[in-house]
Amino acid sequence: MARRDNTSVAKKATPPKLVPRPKTAGKRAARVAKLIKLLDEMYPNPKIPLLHRNVWELLVATILSAQCTDKRVNEVTPGLFAKYPTITDFANANQAELGKDIRSTGFFNNKSKSLIGAARKILADFGGEVPKTMEQLLTVPGAARKTANVVLGGYYGIPAGVVVDTHVQRLSRRLDLTKQTNPVKIEQDLMKIIPKDKWIAFPLQLIFHGRALCIARKPRCVDCKLDSLCYAKDKFLG
Ligand code: SF4
Repeated sequence: MARRDNTSVAKKATPPKLVPRPKTAGKRAARVAKLIKLLDEMYPNPKIPLLHRNVWELLVATILSAQCTDKRVNEVTPGLFAKYPTITDFANANQAELGKDIRSTGFFNNKSKSLIGAARKILADFGGEVPKTMEQLLTVPGAARKTANVVLGGYYGIPAGVVVDTHVQRLSRRLDLTKQTNPVKIEQDLMKIIPKDKWIAFPLQLIFHGRALCIARKPRCVDCKLDSLCYAKDKFLG
């Protein structure tokens, strides 16, 4: 009985007020380096959880993932890619029918319009190849910075920026990596303090951590290895 109590005490998360905020630029950089090291240990070689066989399919899956879980997208895309196996099939798709095919991912009218528009744009202006630069990708219907970063980093291995989704937004603020709420500004902050060779892995690690432990309501701080570096006001210490 006593042993169980001791274990419980040892695992208890550090109260936020006891985690010192680094006061110098050097100490802040050292803290970020430690966070990255711990995330590398917890989530080594993170991979994009959206099913895809080529870069076009990753672009489609990423567009579908807006306001939708990756799990739901992965339930829809195998059938979708069987019915529309090529980018040309998407370009020629009937929007109403495509909308029905992706209905369960939500916002299906906008998404079907984006998918057809993206396919036509890529066929017309990029020879059917999903472009490899941020500037070009941002001209593709349905592709804002987050989508472009997923495709560039996740498929081409090009660190053009940092993916900022809802998990990255929440964890970046909890971990005091930004005070911003706008995703574009959060990305700018992260690009300043995260080394470029971590721009692809780091947001994926935050996404996995956000799903596993640092959930929106009642994060599981008692099980979190980042606890000693985290002074989030909403740490859950129960
Ligand atoms: S779970 Fe989230 S809030 Fe809790 S200690 Fe870990 S990073 Fe901080």
